[in-house]
Amino acid sequence: MGTKPAAQPGVETKKTYCRFCHNYCAMEVDVLDGKPIAVRGDISDPVYGGYTCIKGRQLTKAYDHESRITQPLKKLADGSWQEISSTQAFDEIADKVKQIIDMDGARSIATYCGTYSFQESAALAVSRAFHEGIGSPSYYTSVSIDQPAKGIALSRFGVWAGGPHSFEGADVALIVGCNTLISHFTPYGGIPPFSPRKALNRGLKDGIKMIVIDPRKTEVARKAHIHLQARPGEDPTVLCGIIKVILDENLYDAEFCEQYVDGLEALREAVTDFTPEYVELRAGVSSDLVVEAARVWGNGKRGTATAGTGPNMAPRGNVMEHLLHVLNTLCSRFNKEGDKVPNPGVLSPTGNRKAEVIAPWPAYGKDFPQSRIRGLSECCGEMPTAALNDEILEPGDGQVKVLFNIGGNPMVAFPNQNKTVRAMEALELLVCIDVKMSATAVMADYILPGKICLERDDAPVMADTWFDVPYTHYAEAIVEPNGDVIEEWEFYWELAHRLGIELKLGGSILPMDAAFGVATGGLIPTDHKPSKFEVLELVASGTKVPLREIKAKEGGFVYENIECFVEKGDSTAKLQLTPPGIADEIREIRSENLTGSGIPQKDGTYTHLLTSRRLNHVYNSSGQQFDAVKDKGTTNHAHMHPDDLLALEIESGDLVQVSGPGGKVTAVTKAEVTIQRGVCSLAHGWGFHPEYDSNQNVREIGTSSNRIISDEAEYDPISGMARQSAIPVNITAV
Ligand code: SF4
Repeated sequence: MGTKPAAQPGVETKKTYCRFCHNYCAMEVDVLDGKPIAVRGDISDPVYGGYTCIKGRQLTKAYDHESRITQPLKKLADGSWQEISSTQAFDEIADKVKQIIDMDGARSIATYCGTYSFQESAALAVSRAFHEGIGSPSYYTSVSIDQPAKGIALSRFGVWAGGPHSFEGADVALIVGCNTLISHFTPYGGIPPFSPRKALNRGLKDGIKMIVIDPRKTEVARKAHIHLQARPGEDPTVLCGIIKVILDENLYDAEFCEQYVDGLEALREAVTDFTPEYVELRAGVSSDLVVEAARVWGNGKRGTATAGTGPNMAPRGNVMEHLLHVLNTLCSRFNKEGDKVPNPGVLSPTGNRKAEVIAPWPAYGKDFPQSRIRGLSECCGEMPTAALNDEILEPGDGQVKVLFNIGGNPMVAFPNQNKTVRAMEALELLVCIDVKMSATAVMADYILPGKICLERDDAPVMADTWFDVPYTHYAEAIVEPNGDVIEEWEFYWELAHRLGIELKLGGSILPMDAAFGVATGGLIPTDHKPSKFEVLELVASGTKVPLREIKAKEGGFVYENIECFVEKGDSTAKLQLTPPGIADEIREIRSENLTGSGIPQKDGTYTHLLTSRRLNHVYNSSGQQFDAVKDKGTTNHAHMHPDDLLALEIESGDLVQVSGPGGKVTAVTKAEVTIQRGVCSLAHGWGFHPEYDSNQNVREIGTSSNRIISDEAEYDPISGMARQSAIPVNITAV
């Protein structure tokens, strides 16, 4: 990769992209003596145009921040930490792993891939290959505790092989609980997150009509043509109401449905009682707006219905995601024969798109590895993370005894924090790859310090088909590693090397990308330690553009020559509007008894519904250590309507106790008029260990919302995911 001289003597300016979150913003970094001294958005980048956020702009601080761990740490018998070399750590961990596999079997070795494993572009593929190699199904990721519904819904519904409409060129968009301007996340078809405000304003200028379903008047909802401010957890109710109007008023594409769809009449019957009046009573949105939303959606020509993470964390996430596929299908919001596919992917395998249906596929159930907990099974390629604590605590065959926590923070991410404490303590070996002493790392036996993005090569394999154009960017390591730091994939390679295990890559990176995403393939060399580039060539095997060619370019690049048009299809498979179970689940929602104010009776004994939210200045539990971030706030406020605070006789900024099915926490209130009464909105990923996280320091470290959540009181029967949003809670003044 070339470099260009910067103004200051000795300083080189290098192009890269940020991996603080999954948005991968293109950046320029000034480097002096192998260290980063300044970062800024790369204004020449054709997709990002210089966009960055406050988190990414902390990368120079992240490099040598006082909180950063730069040497592997081993916990001694007295609880103190000893600095050791990474070689010693790999040797000792491999010995222990071998001993436990010999004694208890491979299933006792588990991996949890958290947020940061997704940003290191070889981590998921290589860690999966390791588990295949040792024969352990105990493979977990954060996908199964925040959006397993996306994979489940696709596996039941099927996929249109031509792909969905993009946001660009759409005249309507339906967005459920996705505040892209803050979260920098959106499924394909929603607001592109890569420079989200620009993309949204461009769409609005071009006349797109936005329908937003969200319990808060979020930054995105404020731009909506129609905002359906539904009660938390009632997205399925609203979507059923919209679908009913579309069917009743014949606003759907009957010709498309005739050819490519099964289950239309069963769907019509299932939603028949979701009248706009019922939706108004139950979800708290005006019946007129429900009808208007259905008409705007049904009369549009192009545009996709998508949902963010929050609605997936609320009850009935599977149904909610399914109903979005129903809406897209009824109105055939897909690329048809002869249409150009805006981005068939650059790092994805070559191959054509066809105007046909990819049939549903089995993804969970009795033919998959079985969990020992709550009758669950592997789901969409991984075991259910919500059951991992119990897999550790429950004695017997298959008990998990070793956990590799890769870039995650289970202590503030897993439902039921008190149980997570017991589980982490019960492990025979806990290894964390982390950059700082997180709430989980502090409980580890070994901490292996991870490289930050500027210290490693990467390519945006996970986001390959998320861009609106065929764009990619190979980022080389541009600074010297700060200490004896490692990459996540290296950990597995080092273990495999010591255990004599083959690492064979295969499959797609994410379950929801199974139809279009990057395919991995090939054996990782074991006769020599491969370079990251060698590994990435296997991770993104069969790419449309050779990885070497991509690497040779400086910065991000749009490959205009990649053209893909949807070809005539020949499959007879059909999209399933009502696969087994769906109509029953919809009817079950409708049959729930409601209180006089329209709230399902089972939730009616609580004062508030607690929703999750994202904050722009932090990424889950990352970023809180930086001064610029602290200036934005050092706690995750409990946002409530001012009238609710008045009713509690407290002021904004006072403390409240929030108690839910799993436990209680203290939080600092903040008045927010854009929230409905009866709703409390609290960001996740804050707080620490229950011993340290209390009334005394909640203003400095925030509060652990996962302590409120019960993993047993209410959970999804397929994924095991706990109710992690729209949680019934009682709020009282402290
Ligand atoms: S949105 Fe912010 S944190 Fe995420 S990649 Fe871009 S600059 Fe980095």
